[in-house]
Amino acid sequence: MSSPAAQADLTARLARARAAAAAAGLDAVLITPGPDLRYLTGYVAKPLERLTCLVLRSGADPVLVVPVLERPAAEAAGVAALGLAIAAWEETEDPIALVAEILGTGVRDYGVDDHMWAEKVLRLRTGLPGVAQHLAGDVLRGLRIRKSPAEVDALREAGAAIDRVHARMGEWLRAGRTERQIGRDIADAIIAEGHVRADFVIVGSGANGASPHHEVSDRVIEMGDAVVVDIGGTTEAGYCSDSTRTYTIGEPDPEFRRYYAVLLEAQRAACEAVRPGIGAQEVDRVARGIISAAGYGEFFVHRTGHGIGLEGHEHPYIVEGNAEPIEPGMAFSVEPGIYLPGRHGARIEDIVVCTTEAGERLNLTPRELTVLPV
Ligand code: ZN
Ligand code: ZN
Ligand code: ZN
Repeated sequence: MSSPAAQADLTARLARARAAAAAAGLDAVLITPGPDLRYLTGYVAKPLERLTCLVLRSGADPVLVVPVLERPAAEAAGVAALGLAIAAWEETEDPIALVAEILGTGVRDYGVDDHMWAEKVLRLRTGLPGVAQHLAGDVLRGLRIRKSPAEVDALREAGAAIDRVHARMGEWLRAGRTERQIGRDIADAIIAEGHVRADFVIVGSGANGASPHHEVSDRVIEMGDAVVVDIGGTTEAGYCSDSTRTYTIGEPDPEFRRYYAVLLEAQRAACEAVRPGIGAQEVDRVARGIISAAGYGEFFVHRTGHGIGLEGHEHPYIVEGNAEPIEPGMAFSVEPGIYLPGRHGARIEDIVVCTTEAGERLNLTPRELTVLPV
């Protein structure tokens, strides 16, 4: 697996994670397979019943605990070059006891990654009596929320890949076909255009477009339909794409045209509001203010956006109540929507990265209403 992170980047991330853990009062952090492990080590491992766990201790070298049968895969991922010792456990050994042994005495507080399986969290709790367990999410969040230039490049590549799929929409989206048929073609194109995986395909036609997380159904596309197409995948480098465009098949309902113009303006203004120092909720307010002023506020039923990186949804969340200032390197979606229940809906979504001056959109396909031929 190629990764945009060079070995030196990974070594620096491990050091920063240990420093952040210590600053948060944690003597150790335990990280099982998932985006945090990939971020810190480049090792892409599946979460399985057998324990794989990075043990990061303050004042000691990190150790990767792996089942013996996963050892070759971990070695192939280059973890040894990072200075990680590998502690392999045999099929009949107790990996929790091995983690406890590596932690040694003197550990009072440790963090577990936010995605660790509950079954492992509870076994650790039992296996480390008297040691306080915390979530390590906040420790890693501070690192992952600001993307390095290499990570921004990886997101830009993902954005270009999903843009190529949207640019081909006219090949598949036609009256007489079902959302499911169209969705299958889109999923194939997501892979063909530069992802290793299609993560989701939403084809919400007609009234289905008013359900923001509708996926696909057997509904047949009809003339005059508005169709919300929200799609994303993961690239070889591990970074996610996510972009929504709304299409119509021939001329839509006049009210749809009316609110689409409002939505377009809201999405543009929110993207343009992005700059270092602006609160995440301020970006939401810009989009919501325009939609509300036009009388559609009650139909914008979700937050304006979410962070994106090694995960499709991560910090920062662009939502009322999150005053966190946006900083250079933060990458997130700006995706306001208007949904009229039982009728139709629309959403426009771009990934935006905050540079030292402003927001840079990573999705560049036209946002004006695309009317496809019937
Ligand atoms: Zn969503
Ligand atoms: Zn989306
Ligand atoms: Zn999104």
